[in-house]
Amino acid sequence: MEHHSVIIAGGGPGGLGVAATLEGWHPRFEGDYEFPSDEVQAFAKQNEANPLAFDPHELLERGHRPIEFYRMRHHPIQDAVPLDEWSLKFTKQQRADWIMLSTDGPGGLWNNVPKEQMTLGPAHWMELAHYPIGKFYEQTGRDRDLNSLVHRDDLVPYYQAFTEELGLNDHIKSGVKVTSIAPVGDDIDARFVVETADQSNGTTAKYSCDYVVFGVGPRSSIRKLDANGTDQSYVSLAYTHPDDYPGERVIVIGGGRSADWAAQELHDAGKIILYVMRQKPDTHLKLINDSQFLPYYQRWAEILSGEQERMGLLYESSVTAFESEGLVAISTPEGLVQVQIDHAVVEIGGDPDYEILSSYEDLSFHAKRDNFRFQLNQLKVDQATFESIDVPGLYPAGYSAQGTGLSVIGFHAGCFLIAGDILRKSNLV
Ligand SMILES: Cc1cc2nc3c(=O)[nH]c(=O)nc-3n(C[C@H](O)[C@H](O)[C@H](O)COP(=O)(O)OP(=O)(O)OC[C@H]3O[C@@H](n4cnc5c(N)ncnc54)[C@H](O)[C@@H]3O)c2cc1C
Repeated sequence: MEHHSVIIAGGGPGGLGVAATLEGWHPRFEGDYEFPSDEVQAFAKQNEANPLAFDPHELLERGHRPIEFYRMRHHPIQDAVPLDEWSLKFTKQQRADWIMLSTDGPGGLWNNVPKEQMTLGPAHWMELAHYPIGKFYEQTGRDRDLNSLVHRDDLVPYYQAFTEELGLNDHIKSGVKVTSIAPVGDDIDARFVVETADQSNGTTAKYSCDYVVFGVGPRSSIRKLDANGTDQSYVSLAYTHPDDYPGERVIVIGGGRSADWAAQELHDAGKIILYVMRQKPDTHLKLINDSQFLPYYQRWAEILSGEQERMGLLYESSVTAFESEGLVAISTPEGLVQVQIDHAVVEIGGDPDYEILSSYEDLSFHAKRDNFRFQLNQLKVDQATFESIDVPGLYPAGYSAQGTGLSVIGFHAGCFLIAGDILRKSNLV
């Protein structure tokens, strides 16, 4: 069985930040920086050459959140900090023995979003600090505003360049699905056995390791629509681009941001849309109203205040069956209706795949809800290290860890807490 000190499951922004830090790209603070608290400022100054070396419990015990310690240096102000003014820098040190196993390549779920997908926030919010996105724009001749939204055609190449620039690629195996993370038996000198399946040929393999970084992301277990006939050829279980759907009449099933994106883009491409969702109108309208800072929600407000000739919205409704010839049965508050369509797009989201950890009984979860209707269970972790409170050596990365926001800017700084803890325990810092 191949052994590594650390196995990182998942190649999204969550896993990549930890990988870069374990590769030896250690943060340091430089120049004129200021933390809002004098106590934290003094602490930072004292540890600025090597902040990974101190135990962040020291901050926690004084009432400061360790993840904020790094986040404040990466994003000290609302707007992007010009490259020559960064106070967060990196020094290359010895690497730890890590390997990343991931279904997609670098960039995680951004590899599979719709072809024209934009982010919900500015470019610098999506960045991993070790390789600033401003530097990527400069190096690749992209004339872009760091405070503007990013197209996925810029973002995925950025994450790919991140792995290239920082020398991570030799340690990343993509096309590999982690199927189980479990405790080892007494006969092996390690903590975990990680089982995998090669996605191209199904070949299985086993690895052992001392630490696992669990970064499989929020969509690693796609929700299944509870309806008959989802295998009909006119049903797509993920949205890509209007050109991929022949015919005029499209039913979109969902109700979250991804379904909103699909329904609007198809509508604006000239299709006739029936948008079916389980939620009440008020909930959907609240999301639209609360999201008016985003261009595609401004467009939603426009569509709803217009004639809506090609956008039919069915609230508190659910599709019960997809039948032959494009016939779709829908349960509505007024009773069962049947419509005929050319294509169906199902966008009902997913959850982190905690089945992978099913060997561990009674994991403690924190039910995370945000104003924008993201809902998921996060694993409870030590807030100084992001180590699971239930499984020593297990570190949820990305947004499956309690105490992070549900966005890259919200969770990225956690990579320094995770890698720092592993490096300190491995005497590498
Ligand atoms: C349409 C859309 C728009 C979004 N917009 C924004 C935004 O604007 N800003 C923002 O900050 N966030 C946004 N998000 C949230 C998104 O979750 C984060 O941007 C980010 O991708 C999360 O990073 P992650 O590393 O936790 O997970 P992911 O990006 O999901 O990466 C995890 C990766 O792990 C791999 N994986 C999954 N299961 C396994 C397995 N069993 N074994 C091995 N590998 C596995 C897959 O390759 C997966 O892609 C958006 C999400 C969606 C769906």
